[in-house]
Amino acid sequence: MTSSLDLTPSAAPSWMGSALCAQIPTEQDLWFPEPERGPVIAWAKRVCARCPVRSECLEAALALSGPDAPRGVWGGTTAHERERIRSRRRAARRGQAA
Ligand code: SF4
Repeated sequence: MTSSLDLTPSAAPSWMGSALCAQIPTEQDLWFPEPERGPVIAWAKRVCARCPVRSECLEAALALSGPDAPRGVWGGTTAHERERIRSRRRAARRGQAA
């Protein structure tokens, strides 16, 4: 696991080459709204829903937590939604270990 997601062209994961959001000329703020604004998030999620690398994107974002956790919409989820997914997965792992 990496401690951060390096998005420089030479280091970006190969799946990013198919990222639908990279093909849409738009303002960076639409992907990383602060504070998170409903209409903007809904728009980004609609794009993610059609993205061929949504799973890869989501797993990459989920792999980073704490201060390294990416903000904004990744894999069709907000940062808050990803934290809930991480929590559910941790609980499931604890359940399997018991
Ligand atoms: S899932 Fe969404 S944020 Fe991730 S690469 Fe695709 S369009 Fe971009």
